[in-house]
Amino acid sequence: MSENKKTEKIVGVKGMNDILPADAPLWELFENTVHTVLKSYGFQQIRTPIVEPTALFARGLGEVTDIVEKEMYSFTDSMNGDELTLRPECTAGVVRAALEHNLTYDGPKRLWYAGPMFRHERPQRGRYRQFHQIGAEAIGFAGPDIDAELIMMCQRLWDDLGLKDVRLELNSIGNADERNRHRADLIAYFEKNEELLDAEAKKRLHSNPLRILDTKNPAMQDLVNAAPKLLDYLGDESRAHFEGVQKILRHNAIPFTINPRLVRGMDYYNRTVFEWVTDQLGSQGTVCGGGRYDPLIEMFGGKPTPACGFAMGVERLLELMKANGDALSPNQCDVYLVHQGEEAQLQASVVAERLRDAGLDVILHCASAAGIGSFKSQMKRADGSGAAYAIIIAEDEIAKGAAVVKELRSADAGGNQAEVPFEGIADYLVDQIVGHDHSHDEHVHYHH
Ligand code: ATP
Ligand code: MG
Repeated sequence: MSENKKTEKIVGVKGMNDILPADAPLWELFENTVHTVLKSYGFQQIRTPIVEPTALFARGLGEVTDIVEKEMYSFTDSMNGDELTLRPECTAGVVRAALEHNLTYDGPKRLWYAGPMFRHERPQRGRYRQFHQIGAEAIGFAGPDIDAELIMMCQRLWDDLGLKDVRLELNSIGNADERNRHRADLIAYFEKNEELLDAEAKKRLHSNPLRILDTKNPAMQDLVNAAPKLLDYLGDESRAHFEGVQKILRHNAIPFTINPRLVRGMDYYNRTVFEWVTDQLGSQGTVCGGGRYDPLIEMFGGKPTPACGFAMGVERLLELMKANGDALSPNQCDVYLVHQGEEAQLQASVVAERLRDAGLDVILHCASAAGIGSFKSQMKRADGSGAAYAIIIAEDEIAKGAAVVKELRSADAGGNQAEVPFEGIADYLVDQIVGHDHSHDEHVHYHH
C-alpha cells in the first residue's frame, strides 16, 4: 500500500446513511412517539439479532420474492462456513425468536421491534441499503379484531406525529386455496395477453403471478386493472374475516379504500393486507405495510399459529414529517459553563456537577487542540451550543465566591445577568427556568 493510499479518506457504504446530530432530535421524537403509542396498546418490545441464518429468509419470505432473489446481503462466515444474512426485514426473526423461546406458551403475544434492515437495492430518495423499520407483530391472534387494532394503532401514530396525508389501502388475499383458484385464472388471463407483459412479468408469470398485479410499469396498468380480482375468489370465512376488519374500522371512523391489486411482497401473507400511502414522497410513497401471515409459523416448524403485523419505514416517515415543517432545533441544553484560569476551571467542574444533580443539562467548556481558548471564543461556543444560560467563572468570581449567570436568549439585546453565589446557582436556575416556562410540568428537562 502506498503512503498516499493510507491517508485517503474512507467514505461510508453507498446507500447506508449516517444519522447526524442535526437530524437526531427528529429521530428521537419519532421513536419516543411510536414507543408511547405501542405501549398504550400493550405491545412489548423484542430485540432480535441483525444477522440471521440465510435459510430463515429463504424459507420465510419465499424464494421468488424481490428480497430473496436480489436484495439480500448474504455471506459465508469465514470462521465456520455458516450461511448468514443481514436481516432485510424483521418478521422472520421475531417469529423465529418467538418459537425458539416459546413466547406464546401462555397465550397470544403483542410484540414490537425497531432497528436497521438491509436490502441491496438501487439507492434513491426513500430507498436505501440500510434503512430503519419499526414494526409490530401480534402472534397467536386469529380474529379480525387484532387486524383492525394494528391499523388503528398506525392511525393514532400518524395523528400523534401530525401526519395528515397518509391514507389506508386495504385488501384481502384470502387463503392458499382461494389464491390457487385465482392464480389459475390469472395465469390464463396473462397468457392470453402475453404480448402486453414486460420482461419482469413474463419471468413471474408461472412462479409468482400475483406479484405482477403489483407492477409499477405504467404500460401494464390497464392490463392489471382488468385482471381477475382475488376478492372475487374469497370463500365465506375469508370474506367474513375481511368484513369484520372493515366493520371495526368503520365503527372507529378510520377511512380506507379497498385496493384489489394490493398484494404485498412476501409469500407468507394471507387474508388482510394493508398499506399506508402518501402522495408527498414521489414514487416511494408507501410508509407502512402489513397484514396477516397465518401460514408462517407452521412454515418455521411451529404448530399452526395465526398472526398479523406491520412494518413502517422510518426514513420515509421522517421525510414526511420534514415536509410538514417538523424540523426540530438542534439539541438544546440549559447551561454552558465558561471559565478562565486554573482555579476557575476546577470550580466550574464542581458547579457543573451540582447543576446536573439538580436535573439541568450542562455543557462544561473543555480544551480543544488549540487550548482552552479566550473568554470571547468561549462565549461564542456558549452561543452556538443553544444553551439558555451561560455561567461565567474567572478570577474575580473566584474571589467573590459567586458566578455571573447570563441569559443568552433574552429579548433585550444586552441580556440579563446576575451574580449568584456558587452554592445557590442550581436553585437560582431552576427557579428561573421553571418560572419562564409555565408549560413545564415535568422537572427533569428544563428546556423544550
Ligand atoms: P417497496 O415496494 O417500496 O419496495 P416493500 O414492499 O419492499 O416496499 P416492505 O418489505 O413491506 O416494503 O417494508 C415495509 C416498509 O419499509 C415499506 O413500506 C417502506 O416504507 C420501508 N422500506 C422498504 N424498503 C426500503 C428501503 N430500501 N429503504 C427505505 N425504506 C424501505
Ligand atoms: Mg421492496
